Amino acid sequence: MIIPDWERFAGDMGEIFEDVRRFNDGELATYIPQLSRVPPDSWAMSVCTIDGQRKSWGDSLKPFCLQSVSKPFTYALVHDDIGPEALHAHVGQEPSGRLFNDISLDHNKKPHNPLINAGAIVVASLLKNHSSLADRFDFMIHACRKFVGSGYIGFNNSVFLSERETADRNYALSYYMREHNVFPKDLNLQDTLDLYFQICSIETNCDSLAVMAATLANGGVNPMNGERIVNNRACRDTLSLMYSCGMYDWSGQFAFHVGLPAKSGVSGDMIIVIPNVMGIALYSPRLDKLGNTVRGVKFAEQLVQKYNFHNYDSL
Ligand code: GLU
Repeated sequence: MIIPDWERFAGDMGEIFEDVRRFNDGELATYIPQLSRVPPDSWAMSVCTIDGQRKSWGDSLKPFCLQSVSKPFTYALVHDDIGPEALHAHVGQEPSGRLFNDISLDHNKKPHNPLINAGAIVVASLLKNHSSLADRFDFMIHACRKFVGSGYIGFNNSVFLSERETADRNYALSYYMREHNVFPKDLNLQDTLDLYFQICSIETNCDSLAVMAATLANGGVNPMNGERIVNNRACRDTLSLMYSCGMYDWSGQFAFHVGLPAKSGVSGDMIIVIPNVMGIALYSPRLDKLGNTVRGVKFAEQLVQKYNFHNYDSL
């Protein structure tokens, strides 16, 4: 067993979960009405170890959209499909130091990394781009189903429609990138953006998201059924990017204080990966000023106070 005293570990996790409930500050995302209407007090957490021990707390079956938590998974799938060289011909690996939807490129005129909007839109443009839009979406949602095993994956059409309607910034970003030849040849920009919005609108719950995170913790193999979803190198590169770029403009602070790869999204979801140990999924829709779930970040900080999971704790 990777966690020998599971009962005690689960008890500690539950205590931190209950303690963090008191953090009621932060605001819901309001850029689309659908996100501003969710119950603000929802709080959920699930863990899944690489040997399949699982536990959930709170509203762990409540569905939410992946939003930016989809970005590492899309990246891993494209990486697995076309390889790192072809992928990184279009996008860098550097924290941007700017807002996630900032209209800026790095000194090579590429998006800074695949976990901000510009980079994720480019990664979406590379996802099975010789197929029809319908087949590309099918590929992505089936891949998410493989990441969760028997868990829940759905699609929120009203979030998708709303994303598409209020996407001036993502359109502006995309035109700017097209001007600088960031995209592959023969790009259909509308299809690319539609696919990007659809991926953001894929739904899951904490219980299932923990298995997705655990698959990354397990080198790309779903711990619940042993199926390999992405290769080791794709998984390694995904975790490196999550470590340096996963938490918006708090990424450096998070790497310093928590020392674990993580990714958050505007719906209030978040994953933390403890490589070779477990995946943790969190959901609480109140966000801090940088767009990270307030309770999720507090949880991560308390977790590494209690357990020596920080990357450099073992020194
Ligand atoms: N759909 C959002 C956007 O593209 C995703 C943002 C996020 O979760 O960071 O603006």
